[in-house]
This record gives sequence, C-alpha cells and structure tokens, in this order.
Amino acid sequence: MSTLKQVIFSGLIFVLIACSSQRKKSDESIELFSLDKVKLLDSPFREAQLTDLNYILELDADKLLAPFLMDAGLEPVKPGYGNWEGTGLNGHIGGHYLSALAMMYSATGNDSIKKRLDYTIDWLEKCQQANGNGYVGGVPNGKIIWDEISKGEIKAELFSLNGRWVPLYNIHKIFAGLRDAWVFTNNEKALTIWKNLSDWWIDLTENLSDEQFQAMLKSEHGGMNEVFADLFSIKGDSTYLAMAKKMSHRLILNPLINQHDSLTGLHANTQIPKVVGFLKVGLLSGDSSWTKASEFFWKTVVQNRSMAFGGNSVHEHFNPVDDFSSMLESEQGPETCNTYNMLRLTKGLWEISGFSSYLDFYERALYNHILSSQHPRGGFVYFTPLRPMHYRVYSQPHQGMWCCVGSGMENHAKYGELIYAHRGDGVLINLFIASELDWSENGIHIKQTTRFPFEEESTLLLKLNKPKKFSVSIRIPEWIVGDKLLIKINDQESMEIPSENGYAVINRTWQNGDQVVVQLPMKITSEQLPDKSHWVSFLYGPMVMAAKTDTTELTGLFADDSRMGHVAKGTKYPLENLPTLVGSIDSLMAKLIVEKGDESIVVPLNNTGFPESFQSLKLVPFYQIHEARYIMYWPYSDSSQRH
Ligand SMILES: [Zn+2]
Repeated sequence: MSTLKQVIFSGLIFVLIACSSQRKKSDESIELFSLDKVKLLDSPFREAQLTDLNYILELDADKLLAPFLMDAGLEPVKPGYGNWEGTGLNGHIGGHYLSALAMMYSATGNDSIKKRLDYTIDWLEKCQQANGNGYVGGVPNGKIIWDEISKGEIKAELFSLNGRWVPLYNIHKIFAGLRDAWVFTNNEKALTIWKNLSDWWIDLTENLSDEQFQAMLKSEHGGMNEVFADLFSIKGDSTYLAMAKKMSHRLILNPLINQHDSLTGLHANTQIPKVVGFLKVGLLSGDSSWTKASEFFWKTVVQNRSMAFGGNSVHEHFNPVDDFSSMLESEQGPETCNTYNMLRLTKGLWEISGFSSYLDFYERALYNHILSSQHPRGGFVYFTPLRPMHYRVYSQPHQGMWCCVGSGMENHAKYGELIYAHRGDGVLINLFIASELDWSENGIHIKQTTRFPFEEESTLLLKLNKPKKFSVSIRIPEWIVGDKLLIKINDQESMEIPSENGYAVINRTWQNGDQVVVQLPMKITSEQLPDKSHWVSFLYGPMVMAAKTDTTELTGLFADDSRMGHVAKGTKYPLENLPTLVGSIDSLMAKLIVEKGDESIVVPLNNTGFPESFQSLKLVPFYQIHEARYIMYWPYSDSSQRH
C-alpha cells in the first residue's frame, strides 16, 4: 500500500507520495497520442528534432528513390547515393526516409516535409505499377533473387541471402516506411502500396515449407514478422497474421519462451526487431508465451546486457554477461540502432503493462543514447565506444548511408511519442520534457513547462473547455530522491494522492487554468558494469555524467563514404595508463558537487578523491559531449592497493 503524508515545505503545502511497490492493472487499456497531438517546446529535444528536420531535407529524395526506379525498369531522375546505398543495400535508407518523413510531418506539420513525403510515395506507386506484381524495392536485380526464393532456392547466412547483402532486412525498411506513412499521416496510397507489397510476398512464398522459411530467416530480416502483424491489425485478414508467424524466427523465439538467455555471441540488432514482432504476434494471436518471451528478452537485455546509457553490444554482437572487458577495449561499442529498437520494444511492453519501470529505461536511453547520438549541427552516430578516452564519429548527409543514419532520422522525429498517454479519460504524464498536449477531442490541453534537467521541477498548465473530472497520473521516476514526488496544485491546494503502478494519480474535477508543479529532486548515483567488474559510471537523475578528456587526433570525425567510415579509427589510448579511482564509491560521490547553470550541469573533479590527472576534468551530461574523447566508465579499486 502507498503511504501518504503532508509536510510543510518552504511555506507551501506539498504532498509526499511514496513510491508504491503495488502493481494494479486497470481495466482500461493505455492508448498513445499520435505525434501530431504533441508539440515539443524549447528543450534539447526540440533542438534535436529541428536539426534532424534539416538533415532530412538536405537528403535528395530522387537519389534515395533511384534504386527503386532502377529495379522497376524506370529511368532514375538522378543517380543513387554511394556508400551502403550503392554497394548492395540500395534502398534501405529510402525506406527509413519514408518513416522519418511521416514521423517528422506528423510531429511538426512542416510543409516541405509533406511535399517530400507525397513525392516519395507517388514514385513508389509508379515503381510498383511498373513492376506489375505488387513488388517495390531497391535490392539490385531483385527479380533474380525473388525468383530464386519462390523456387525454394535458399542459401542463407547471417549477413547474406543467396549471395546478396541482407535483402530481407533491406525490404523490411520499405514495408515499415509504407506502414509509418499510413500510421502517422493516414496516407491511403501508402496503405495500398504496403498491402500490395505484402500480397506479393505471400504469393512469392506460397510454396515454401516452414523449414524453408526458417532456413531463410537465418539471414538478417529486420522486423518482417512485425510488419505483417501490423497489417493484420489494420486489415483483419488472418493471412497476414499467419505470415507474421511464419516470418518469426524459432531459433531465437524458442529459448526465450523457455526464459533462457542464449543471446551471447549473437548479432544484437538482428534479434531485437524480431522480438518486437514476437510481442505483436503474441498479442494479436492471444499467445501469451510469445509476449512473455519478449518480456524476458527485454528484462535480460536491460538488466544484464545494457550499459548505464542504455546501449548494448560490442562489435554489434552481444558480449558475455559475465565479461564486459571487450566493451571497454573496443572502438565499436553499442550501436544506435539497437537502442532505437529496444525503445520500440520498451514502448510496446509499457503499453500493455503500464509499469513505469519500462519508462525508467526508456527515459535513461532517450537522454543518454538517443539524444546524444546526433551532432548538434547534424549527423548521426553509429557506435558509441565505452573505451575510455575514445570518441564517436558522425555521418554527413550525402556520404554516410548506414543503418544508424536510417534509424537516426526517425529517432529525433518522434520524441513526442511517449511524453503523454491516456487510459480512458485519464492522462498519463510519462516524461518531463517541455511540450504541449492537444487532446482537443476530449477538451483537454496540457502545457508542460520545464527546463528539466537544468531545473528540478516541471509545471503542468491545464486548459479546459469546461470543468472536467479526470485523473492526471504523473510518473514517479526511479531516480527521484527519497522515492517520493512532491506535487503542488494551484500553489496552496493539497490533497491526498494515491500511487498506482509507479504513478502519482491525481483524481479530481479540474478547472481551466489549474496548475500542477512537480518537484524532481535529483542526486548523484553510481552504476557498475553489469558484470560487476570494477568499473563505474556516475549519474545525476536519469543522466549519465561523463568527462570530456581531449580532442586529440579525432580521425574521421565526420565520416567519409568509405565502407567502414562509421568507425572511430583514431589512436586508442593505452588502458593501462588510465589512473584508478581508489576508495569507496560512496565516499568519492560524497565529494562531488553539482553546479547548475541555465543549460549546464557540471561536476568539477578538482578537490575530489579522483586521481591527480583527472582533477582538471568535469563531469557533464553525456549527451552534451561532442567532437571529443570522453570517459563514461572509470576504473576503481575499493582497496588501498592500486591495480
Ligand atoms: Zn545501425
């Protein structure tokens, strides 16, 4: 049971809400707001969204469409891009581009984005018509491979299918792009193209046995099961759900059903989208073993395989849970696509459970991995090395055509997806990001004003057509000091506020102009590596704090169009030269003093117990560190002996 008590604080009445461990499932299901209902206000997230918008507009739609036109026998308007777009994965960025355009248009209403979206879909329709069989895709000479597949000629490896570079992964992007154009902008033409494309795949594979499907699924295939499950949820035709099941990779699913983590050594981003599909298939078919399998996957990845900033994997593969040494040595730390997909899974699991613990991970990964993965002037990060004093490189619009550019364009368009949600008439406040919710069909408008994390509170202003009784549920973050939320309603007013599923639930008749102030006190905490080896990171609230060390030899900082341009190839500093923090972490943390400015949070390391060579450094939110080498994890020894 939750405990409640009122206290007088700074002359104002606040209500203390203890975080309840009790989990109660409401009868009404959670519904998300579409992106067009949520506008971002000034914040690092708004800046990132605008930076992304410019990057998207900088890309040339004709060049991204070229692979689709070529494979349909049409003359491309312009030659296609190079890099991954010109060496076999042609068309994958075009699919992501469509998703990003749809999300960005929904989120911002930008006219130029809308024109690009319509233009892209019009061309895809022409390509589909020219192909004549429902197919539309950018795989070079696609007709040959699809013909082989239809005859059951399947030679699958992880990164190839019949000698091509992951063609199923590639076409998944256009399936998903068409879906997103429908979901985010109700574009009927996109829905028709998507359905035709899906019917093409069903016809193509009609003679394949389940064994042949499973053999084919050895090759990376994105979320092909998910897009068929999605189409089933829209069209209600069970053929699509049957295909979603056929496209579900049993080699990965079966151990997860048995709650067994056999992920070590597997390519991480190949698996995460499959699991998003398992969740949807499980929900739509009523098979709880599939949904439980996806919950188990989430749990083991988040608890045992994720770094403090939310990312996972080394060299794109899951490392052993009891040995993160490769993570600290490699220049190829967690890949941004992994976290993009983990957040999609997290969102889905939160939606069905309402448990705020999912949002704790979502928030952590959003601030520290996603937000950090875009250069302030544009450009996306692929790998985030955890190797101390290494650095990250950024894509350039016309040169980098990597997977993380594709998912990156989407990441920064959709920050509004989970800030709010509703359960029946009740509004859920999930994230403390300056924004406006326009729930006009229910007569509710909420403006959230905050400079969080630079200030430790957020204000909700309710604008209503008329007085209305409904609940406002505010997430109690796991990092809150004392596990309590301090809430002030209209300055003086107070009420007893129960908590449920990790939310403070304010149920009352609201008046136009009512104001709720949520206090969000933060403190410094620490987190060890998941393998419990002697490496520690520091956090302030949900933010991972890291130190910028230097800017020496940032080779390839803005990546060229070479195949491996996304890897930070500059000199690696020897780890053995890194000084060790000595003493208990608690006593070290006690000496860390937080200094706050309007847009800064700084923890100077001078006059702390940090080694001499670190004393000139400062901890800052990791997402603010760009164009530099950095330290996120520090070696420590809690004995007086140095390593
Ligand atoms: Zn990627």
